[in-house]
Amino acid sequence: MPEGDTVWNTARVLERALVGDVLTGSDFRVPQLATTDLTGWTVAESASRGKHLLLRLTRDDQAMTLHSHLRMDGAWRAFAPGERWSGRPAHLIRVVLRTKRSVAIGYHLHEMALIPTAEEGALLDYLGPDLLGADWNPDEAVRRIEQNPTASIAEALLDQRNLAGVGNLYKAETLFLRGLWPWTPVADVKDLPGTVKLAQKLVASNRGRWTQTTTGSLRRGETSYVYGRRAMPCRRCGTAIQKADQDERVTYWCPRCQPKPG
Ligand SMILES: [Zn+2]
Repeated sequence: MPEGDTVWNTARVLERALVGDVLTGSDFRVPQLATTDLTGWTVAESASRGKHLLLRLTRDDQAMTLHSHLRMDGAWRAFAPGERWSGRPAHLIRVVLRTKRSVAIGYHLHEMALIPTAEEGALLDYLGPDLLGADWNPDEAVRRIEQNPTASIAEALLDQRNLAGVGNLYKAETLFLRGLWPWTPVADVKDLPGTVKLAQKLVASNRGRWTQTTTGSLRRGETSYVYGRRAMPCRRCGTAIQKADQDERVTYWCPRCQPKPG
């Protein structure tokens, strides 16, 4: 599940594979960039902001950014030249970027765009504080969440305008660990700063590895408290974990540890 930590890790993959090198070829397989050729551009920087990936390119005095978003199913993989592209089926390839030492392949990427780096802000200004950014600001995230007191806390955590980087997994796990029923209105959440800080801690603690865990265990089947565990016993109380639709996403919760208020 691409959440903030996955996107951050992906930016590091592209950094190791491409940054500092000149592109020797590019092959875009999306209509809006089909005629684009980035040969000769230098990859200056690979960054993430929330769930957005930013590959910054320079040539002479020009600076462009290749923007992509993983959404639910996108991925970037890096291979050595000549290595078999073992990532995903070929029909999912959206772009191939080549340097002398690496081939980076973007699979099923979304929102692909090549924009002047100076205009990145227009794409990203709506985002709340980035959980994994150097400028992470929990007070600002809380302030933004509080502006919509009737929203459910689950919806508020997923809203990238409030804070950038929480996806469905960390949403569900944060709410379990805080004992919050997912439909609790923001106004009724007793310790909003504590909830926001815990979400950030969970995402940050998974940076640098691909297995996402909120329980501390990296063993298959033991990595979450409620996410993906419908009908399985709660790790704390044994009650069957519930699953339901909520705002076009699914949510998981323990009805005993996260009771409906009142
Ligand atoms: Zn429970």
